[in-house]
Amino acid sequence: MINFNGKVALITGGSRGIGAATAKLFARLGADIAINYRANKDEAEKVKADIEGLGRQCLMSKADIAKRSNCENLIKTTIEKFGRMDILVNNAGIWTEAAIENMTDDILDCLLDINLKGCFYTASAAVPFMKKQKSGNIIFIASTAAQRGEAFHSHYAASKGALIALTKSLSTELADDNIRVNCVAPGWVDTDMSHEALIGPDASKILSLIPLGRAATAEEIAGPIVFLASDWAGFIDGEVLNVNGGAVLAG
Ligand code: NAD
Repeated sequence: MINFNGKVALITGGSRGIGAATAKLFARLGADIAINYRANKDEAEKVKADIEGLGRQCLMSKADIAKRSNCENLIKTTIEKFGRMDILVNNAGIWTEAAIENMTDDILDCLLDINLKGCFYTASAAVPFMKKQKSGNIIFIASTAAQRGEAFHSHYAASKGALIALTKSLSTELADDNIRVNCVAPGWVDTDMSHEALIGPDASKILSLIPLGRAATAEEIAGPIVFLASDWAGFIDGEVLNVNGGAVLAG
């Protein structure tokens, strides 16, 4: 069975949604966990308590992924506490809306700093430790928006498309160091990020484009993330795992 005993997984944005489900699944499978939160300490405390209830350790740190110094500190404190870091899941992200003619620098910078630059910051800080360890696993969370675009969310789609390019680049760059780099591209997932859209006026249109007829649960994205980090996926590198209920085929 998949087993992460003795391993340490850092999941950014692990305080809720896909990140929280992923952190808890890694813990169920034996890993010790590090999560960060930006503002909502209470949410993160609940995830920490759940993980400790599973008999695993959980480091919870405040870190804004948009800031390089915060990302460096997050990696450093994880290594200081656990002495290693095996898995980095770059999950933190935001989804905002703007027509292209309204795409101000503020809107653009805010999203790209979190969704894209934050992933560079965490990976840059984690890789030197993983190289010393001679092993590591990095997983980025893209989106179907990366593959088929998303009207009124072009900056989001572009940030996620860039993560696919980053996955491909780093998988080749880091293969000699026994660091695998992969990506999960979810379709619609029912989390705080998307819940309003999934119950709003466009809900039936959204669902009609998903062959399985519903949005995923956060747990249904956590499973594929954990699989990619496991030895069962030991020969998978530089891949994009689509988890979208068949939506790309229909889109
Ligand atoms: P969510 O809003 O529930 O969770 C996002 C997490 O990221 C939160 O914990 C939040 O605190 C954290 N975060 C955001 N900005 C941050 C910052 N500056 N610093 C630190 N943490 C920050 O959303 P989710 O659905 O769980 O999304 C997780 C990932 O999955 C995101 O990258 C998102 O783009 C991606 N995704 C989601 C969907 C969906 O339909 N929900 C679809 C495709 C991809």
